Amino acid sequence: MIPFRIGLGYDLHQLTPGRKLILGGVEIEHDQGLNGHSDADCLTHAIADAILGAVALPDIGHHFPDTDPKYKDMDSQEILKESIRAIEALGFSLVNVDATLIAEAPKIAPHLSTMKSILSESLGIPVECIGIKATTNETVDAVGQKKAIATHAVALICKK
Ligand code: MG
Repeated sequence: MIPFRIGLGYDLHQLTPGRKLILGGVEIEHDQGLNGHSDADCLTHAIADAILGAVALPDIGHHFPDTDPKYKDMDSQEILKESIRAIEALGFSLVNVDATLIAEAPKIAPHLSTMKSILSESLGIPVECIGIKATTNETVDAVGQKKAIATHAVALICKK
């Protein structure tokens, strides 16, 4: 039995005025924020889904339904910590994650190191094991037209 498992995650939230913009646990100064039931942190959600997917568990929408008032404006780092507890309960630990954040604005690069240290704390892995790239969609589609921010993520986990 090969001890490694890989998982893929994707998330997108719409940008809307009057909401905080939180990505990777960092509150970023911007004229709009992501709309959602929790804090709508699509970077963190994609990573959580990658981790859960690696052990074939249902996605975060199953574990944290957006119909439950208890998760309203929830800090998504709690979702991430819960996804780590879920794989550990099955005898796995996280090796590394890699994510691509797609946003036309604001600039993500100045926040990458803070994002990595927050995610490192939540995931229990060193910052060197957390990849985050930021790109734009070159003005194409809803993301490119600043209507939404999206993230793709992968996670590698290992049997303990
Ligand atoms: Mg989400």
